[in-house]
Amino acid sequence: MAFEGLTGRLQNVFSKLRGKGKVSEEDVNEAMREVRLALLEADVNFKVVKEFVAKVKEKSIGHEVMDSFTPGMVIIDIVNKELTDLMGGSQAKLEKSNKPPTVIMMVGLQGAGKTTTSGKLAKLLQKQNSRPLLVAGDIYRPAAIKQLEVLGEQIKAPVFSLGDKISPVEIAKQALQHAKDNGNDYLIVDTAGRLHIDELLMEELSQIHAEIKPDEVLLVVDAMTGQDAVNVANNFNEQLGLTGVVLTKLDGDTRGGAALSVKAVTGCPIKFVSLGEKIDALEPFHPERMASRILG
Ligand code: GDP
Repeated sequence: MAFEGLTGRLQNVFSKLRGKGKVSEEDVNEAMREVRLALLEADVNFKVVKEFVAKVKEKSIGHEVMDSFTPGMVIIDIVNKELTDLMGGSQAKLEKSNKPPTVIMMVGLQGAGKTTTSGKLAKLLQKQNSRPLLVAGDIYRPAAIKQLEVLGEQIKAPVFSLGDKISPVEIAKQALQHAKDNGNDYLIVDTAGRLHIDELLMEELSQIHAEIKPDEVLLVVDAMTGQDAVNVANNFNEQLGLTGVVLTKLDGDTRGGAALSVKAVTGCPIKFVSLGEKIDALEPFHPERMASRILG
């Protein structure tokens, strides 16, 4: 289960605080030392941890909290609120263009879950009575086109493909026209990923970006990769300008670092999380629900 270690450690800290009728400054300091270690161990970015702990301390130490009847509970509430804020505060919704189609460009490293997430997102939009067109723009990974076509068939969504001999920029351009001609209100463009970020990849993505002017550039990252996911997000954001992040594989035993750091480090909100391989395993991301889940 994701966040298991973090949840267990935070629960330990808070059960000590909760039992106290009075909480001293030393109690708060001690608790925050433990929270700090728990977050670092969960692979949360160290600067993010430092600021987080400082904020919680500042809000917890003072008469208002310490003289309350249930100081431990008040401090847990403060942590809950700060965790929620750390992940963006409120839900960051998908943009909707008032000039359809809304163009969504999916980017990320190979294996992060881009292609499957494209299918899942199409399914989610269909549930809202939209008519997405999927675009097979990953012409380099063998089988990526076929994979998207199979997903499209499964959910009965059209897939635009021109094979693997035509440039992805041209494919994206023609797909946009196709969506306009056929009344598709969303265009979901799957793009190529590499094992690592490289200049050629970024150059091609920039060209696609310039051609189709996406309303959303969603970075798909594997939550299991922790701080690496955050570094990848930083890099893509600098070079391409992201509008949101999709965290995949949250059904695995990720420690939580990516979920807790990516917004604070990059400024990009998490818009969706994926919790499994099935087509309906994609969910909009709710910071407050995730904070409650982490606190257990
Ligand atoms: P791409 O190279 O980024 O297009 O990656 P794919 O979409 O092909 O996904 C790579 C692998 O990760 C596939 O086996 C997916 O089924 C798997 N995958 C994607 N998202 C999730 C998820 O949320 N949970 C789990 N357990 N597996 C996932």
